[in-house]
Amino acid sequence: MRFDVMTLFPDMVRGVLGESIIGRAQSGGLIEIECHNIRDFSTDKHRKTDDTPYGGGVGMVMSCQPIYDCYESIKTKIPEGSKSRVIYMSPKGRIFSHTVAKELAEYDNLVFLCGHYEGVDQRIIDEIVDDEISIGDYVVTGGEIPACIVIDAVSRLIDGVLASSECYEGESVASGILEYPQYTKPREFRGREVPEILLSGDHEKIDRWRLEEAVKITRERRPDMLLLHPEIEEMLRPKKKRR
Ligand code: SAH
Repeated sequence: MRFDVMTLFPDMVRGVLGESIIGRAQSGGLIEIECHNIRDFSTDKHRKTDDTPYGGGVGMVMSCQPIYDCYESIKTKIPEGSKSRVIYMSPKGRIFSHTVAKELAEYDNLVFLCGHYEGVDQRIIDEIVDDEISIGDYVVTGGEIPACIVIDAVSRLIDGVLASSECYEGESVASGILEYPQYTKPREFRGREVPEILLSGDHEKIDRWRLEEAVKITRERRPDMLLLHPEIEEMLRPKKKRR
């Protein structure tokens, strides 16, 4: 899978995605991430990429021309017939989630537009953008961190990026509910013991305990998730005596 990122701050994106699991996925050839500096495409003599807003108001708006030429140059690198989509990271977009990540993982190529300052000229959105995605109901200073979040979440769904798909299938949210608590060595930390059952070696009991814990924390923190997945609570029912 290939990701292209249009940004004024390519090093922000390269830095974040160059480390750890996503960095290894790139060097292993499982994913390809290319950052394109929008400024390189400005035809202005001072390489300007933004201007004051029509109609007045504070801040600067990113101009169409450098973004459009940047996109045109990316397009030449996308193989004919590949499944591709252009995404503008925006607080006005649909909210990102595991479901959206799964949908995006089906593409061969995702092109991201990262806004900065007051955002981008509406006409570039109308001209090249297929999808607008928000990372949540708050505003950050640029689209770079939001794009990194989406690329990271999509990449880990791609075969081979994690050691096995079991690594994400049971995880918080991916399974439909929040994850059970995790513990590692030592057995005791400042008087706090690892739950006895995890040392029992009885995997059936451990699985059931984990499911119970997952349901418990989800009921406390995200009852909305349980409502969407009644089958998960149902799994706990048969063995338990009905009250
Ligand atoms: N004036 C704009 C916000 C600009 S913030 C508005 O009110 O809608 C600058 C840039 O940061 C945006 O262009 C966008 O690319 C990015 N950004 C800010 N918050 C975001 C969010 N919640 N999700 C995705 N991108 C966001």
